[in-house]
Amino acid sequence: MHKILIFGAPGVGKGTQSQLLSEKLNLYHLSTGEVLREAISEGTELGIKAKKIVESGHLVSDDLMIGIVHDALKNRMNSKDGFILDGFPRTIDQAKALDGILKELGLEDLKILHLVANDDEIIKRLMLRGRTDDNAETIKLRLNLYLDSTKPILEYYKPYRKIIEVNGIGEIEEVFGKILSKLQ
Ligand code: AMP
Repeated sequence: MHKILIFGAPGVGKGTQSQLLSEKLNLYHLSTGEVLREAISEGTELGIKAKKIVESGHLVSDDLMIGIVHDALKNRMNSKDGFILDGFPRTIDQAKALDGILKELGLEDLKILHLVANDDEIIKRLMLRGRTDDNAETIKLRLNLYLDSTKPILEYYKPYRKIIEVNGIGEIEEVFGKILSKLQ
């Protein structure tokens, strides 16, 4: 069973690579950003709460996100051969809560797949992507949030989790090939 956390700056290609991996390895792809975007477009209670925060590039509250991930991992894995977490955790508190969730559900031995890229490349990619939360101001904010709140999670996990580093820059298929070979 594969238990993977895909990690990296906004725009590094986590969504694309997670999608490919989930198809290839029959994994449940849990993208917290997608969950929020769907809720926003459907106008659910969660969507109404999250809309302004997501559009401004800020982080949705830890409590809300932890609840979403707990329920999704508990109830939605169905007949899959594992899962890939994409966009969660984004803070140390989320990372600690995830440890508790995985323990509760008997899903330990999470592997971290770190897609590496430099800031210039990230900004270029985000500007090209053109999502409604991708403008110069929110890009800067999200990159800073990544550096200040999210990236330190790597240091937190380092003593007890396997961290696999893959260069995220290159053709989609080329990056995907490297990921598959390193996961073997
Ligand atoms: P993403 O698709 O991962 O780039 O997420 C899009 C937006 O959703 C982020 O900029 C945040 O506003 C929100 N979001 C997604 N995942 C999380 C999370 N784990 N914690 C807080 N906010 C999140």
